[in-house]
Amino acid sequence: MTSLEDVYREIDAAANASNRDRSDITLIAVSKTFGADRIEPVLGAGQTHFGENRVQESQKKWPDLKAKYPNAVLHLIGPLQSNKASDAVALFDVIHTVDRDKIAKALSAEMERQGRKLDVFVQVNTGREQQKAGVMPEETRAFVERCRTVHNLSVRGLMCIPPIDEDPRDHFALLAEYARESGLSDLSMGMSADFPIAISCGATHVRVGSAIFGARDRT
Ligand SMILES: *Cc1c(COP(=O)(O)O)cnc(C)c1O
Repeated sequence: MTSLEDVYREIDAAANASNRDRSDITLIAVSKTFGADRIEPVLGAGQTHFGENRVQESQKKWPDLKAKYPNAVLHLIGPLQSNKASDAVALFDVIHTVDRDKIAKALSAEMERQGRKLDVFVQVNTGREQQKAGVMPEETRAFVERCRTVHNLSVRGLMCIPPIDEDPRDHFALLAEYARESGLSDLSMGMSADFPIAISCGATHVRVGSAIFGARDRT
């Protein structure tokens, strides 16, 4: 897995350059759109964290893969509808896209029902884009607090997807600031094009797809 090793090397270099502990950075290999045949070699190479953006697609490939690789940790990085909360809690280990009370409540109820406690990230719409998911920056602190106290969720950190036409560094810095204000340590930010920059801004979870798996037909 040359491409995977290349990404590992780039993460090492970025961590070194900003004097960060490499063990504080988790690579999430984003395998959306790719079949089990493409995912297995990456699992076989020792990669454990994977990201998917659709619940239904994940249900087709991950139960078998997880049975075969019990150490695999599966992250939901795409939008979640509350009617899929039950399936999401059953299959995923970490949810990165909590952004409204309805979802927080549904996840919490399902975790209770299934006896599974997942870690979650709150997604922040740092670019205030109309079409994009995430809480507005000024709502972040209050929403994180409600997730903790009202919904009893275990909030690990914040997640963002910067606008494609802006310098991601500004958005990564904003997310780090919002996390500090909410007393959160983890930052899910950085994709194939900008994960070294994200690491320099404090990312603890980088979500890298095409740099590992190659180009996709769809997003
Ligand atoms: C697809 C996706 C990624 C990975 O994107 P690449 O550019 O292929 O690395 C990361 N985060 C989210 C939320 C995604 O949907």
